[in-house]
Amino acid sequence: MIKAKGYAAQDAKSELAPWNFERREVGPHDVQFDILYCGVCHSDLHQVRDEWGFSIFPMVPGHELVGKVTKTGSQVKKHKVGDIVGVGCMVDSCRTCKNCEQGLEQFCHAGCAMTYNGYEMDKKTMTFGGYSNVTVVHEDFVLKVSEKLNLAAVAPLLCAGITTYSPLRYWKVGKGHKLGVLGLGGLGHMAVKFGVAFGAEVTVLSSSASKKEDALKLGAHKFIVTKDEEQFKSVTGYFDFIIDTVSAEHDYNQYIMLLATNGVHICVGAPPTPSQISSFSLIMGRKSLVGSLIGGIPETQEMLDFCAKHNIVSEIELIDIKDINTAYERMLKSDVRYRFVIDLATL
Ligand code: NAP
Ligand code: ZN
Ligand code: ZN
Repeated sequence: MIKAKGYAAQDAKSELAPWNFERREVGPHDVQFDILYCGVCHSDLHQVRDEWGFSIFPMVPGHELVGKVTKTGSQVKKHKVGDIVGVGCMVDSCRTCKNCEQGLEQFCHAGCAMTYNGYEMDKKTMTFGGYSNVTVVHEDFVLKVSEKLNLAAVAPLLCAGITTYSPLRYWKVGKGHKLGVLGLGGLGHMAVKFGVAFGAEVTVLSSSASKKEDALKLGAHKFIVTKDEEQFKSVTGYFDFIIDTVSAEHDYNQYIMLLATNGVHICVGAPPTPSQISSFSLIMGRKSLVGSLIGGIPETQEMLDFCAKHNIVSEIELIDIKDINTAYERMLKSDVRYRFVIDLATL
């Protein structure tokens, strides 16, 4: 076994603290890499505090990993020692079901192996995430990362990036569309960048008036403070699409009112509490309420290549790992500009 160290939560009530554990030895199809950077997703916080109700402990969070390959198994063809690579939210899947065959491993019928707070495909061996120094992952779930971008700022692409890229692509959001981005955090700011890159008119819908200048710098065309009644009303029936990245409970009906006829409200944010939707919100104007979960492996690679080509990375605040608990508190206050990334050299 390989000795690893990281930061873990021992239960839903404790803060993250240093923890030593073991990773499996490199198998024929495995890639071992030193983790250089790991982004901090709001899903880490939801899971560390067991807000979704399916947490297993001890938990080493982190599913936005970028690192450098140190060892490869005898059969590995896709990666070599010295390569810069990434791993997102999944580390394995069955590969044979209908969804896996279509590159939709996130919907694997057997349940994919999540990077942490989950089990390998044997459904017994716990997985541990990227708030750690080293990992071992099957080559098929290891992505190629261009070295020409700032690697710390690439890390958040592995979750925040693909989670917003995938639904915008699926719904073919682009020129001639009016896109609303609800919530300007880790996911939201990537949705702005992709929406702009795809040619849509992008409006940020934010509860934080102080983010206006940043939103416009990111490329947004408009900024609406959702708490300002007049501003809110001014975009009634306006959007073709809203991508909803809000992490906390909110009233979906209110935002669906902002959609034009045939408009689509895309949920990617995952508040722990269920919401009430009035059917009238949808039937008036033939509106759709849809969801999306990260993205499959082929599309994640496509997104990384797109970002390398168009020079797209995340806006980050690089932190020492000892400051992770403070970072969580700031995230809860919507005080992230716009993704915390852990520098694993500080571990
Ligand atoms: P984040 O960086 O904390 O951003 C969330 C943003 O939502 C905040 O910055 C804030 O933006 C807004 N917000 C927060 N609380 C709010 C409230 N009470 N009312 C209104 N707006 C509020 O989080 P993230 O990492 O982007 O993740 C966002 C959500 O997506 C989380 O629930 C996460 O678990 C989920 N997620 C889902 C997937 C998926 O595959 N579907 C993948 C990754 C993450 P403003 O200040 O602009 O209002
Ligand atoms: Zn995430
Ligand atoms: Zn499958």
